[in-house]
Amino acid sequence: MISWPRVAMPELSTKLMPLKLIDSKNGLVEIAPHRFFTMYVCGITPYDATHLGHAATYLTYDLINRYLTLAHSNVKYTQNITDIDDPLLERANRDGADWQVLAQSQVQLYAKDMSHLRIQPPNDFIKVTESIELIIDFIGKLKVNGFTYEINGDLYFDVGTFLPNLEISEKYAIDIFAERGGDPKRVGKKHPLDPVLWLANKNSEPGWQSPFGYGRPGWHVECTGIALQYLDMDHPEFVMDLQGGGEDLIFPHHFMSSALVKAATGRNFARFYVHTAMVGLAGEKMSKSKGNLVFVSKLIEQNVDPMVIRWALLSEHYQNYREWSDSVLKKSIEEVAIVRQALSKTEVQPVAQLISGINDCLANNLDSPEALSLILTWAKHSLVSDEKESSVNDAGELARTLDALLGLAL
Ligand code: ZN
Repeated sequence: MISWPRVAMPELSTKLMPLKLIDSKNGLVEIAPHRFFTMYVCGITPYDATHLGHAATYLTYDLINRYLTLAHSNVKYTQNITDIDDPLLERANRDGADWQVLAQSQVQLYAKDMSHLRIQPPNDFIKVTESIELIIDFIGKLKVNGFTYEINGDLYFDVGTFLPNLEISEKYAIDIFAERGGDPKRVGKKHPLDPVLWLANKNSEPGWQSPFGYGRPGWHVECTGIALQYLDMDHPEFVMDLQGGGEDLIFPHHFMSSALVKAATGRNFARFYVHTAMVGLAGEKMSKSKGNLVFVSKLIEQNVDPMVIRWALLSEHYQNYREWSDSVLKKSIEEVAIVRQALSKTEVQPVAQLISGINDCLANNLDSPEALSLILTWAKHSLVSDEKESSVNDAGELARTLDALLGLAL
């Protein structure tokens, strides 16, 4: 599916250090430079896009994508669109809208927001409704390997073998599972945490023909089917290099994805798992259920410069919970103005050390707040410095670095 236009990325003249990231399972890991790097980031359910939590998440993987590409890896990046799911159908019903029209309009809005924020598009931007056959094939593998069972026409995954890998207590896992659309109390289940793979069609809900009956796929099995189709590197130990998403996906979604892939292929889903922290508003995590969402499109409608939004999101670390507020926005507007003013001068402070400092910060688990602080310090010095100490034409080289590595066109 066509996503949104790729952003031109200037070449860098400096050699980048290997990228280090904090992996959710293994702590600090180093991404060795290699020719191909495959990355899957769980995409949106298109009924309430794009709030700042989404934007912060996709911006993080954009930094990884940019960094590895500039370090000469060939990055293959896939993102799904969960365009068939209970929340989408419920929203369409509530609003008296056609679910497909609602999904399509939200996908378009999301693509526009991503484009405004200069986030590079994935190579494959895949709708679940266009992937039903490959999801059916994937469920078929689970069935052949003996990991499925049926309750009244609904097909379930027998997750028992993988429960020793749970990193939280089973009781807590069951609570979260129920909160995120699971059905731990359904009578007939082998284990409360078994997720549904294929839902039999109910009432007039949309559905597809399959060997398991007329119906639709469950949530977790969608991403595994799509990732195996588009990213499988045929490595003996894992399917792809990195799986990403918000930290609310660690359980159940990424736990289940990893168990499903192991059950179907005997391999690990990803070599690395990297998650982003949540964005909050007035002390509460931004979420659809709470309705406390700040939308990128609304900010842009209010004439907020998308580069200010990008700067504001980069000003906090991707793995720290952060709060959005008017004062964060105001501070970012002021800082971007200072940097722009410095970049427009013909003579500025030397930039070589700053550029290598930005590289070091990003290589160090994407420490964008520290990178922004170095840039701001340079800009302030450049604006007050005696021009004799400054170097001619350096601003251009710095502007290209900010554009390429941080996606900031200032
Ligand atoms: Zn997913």
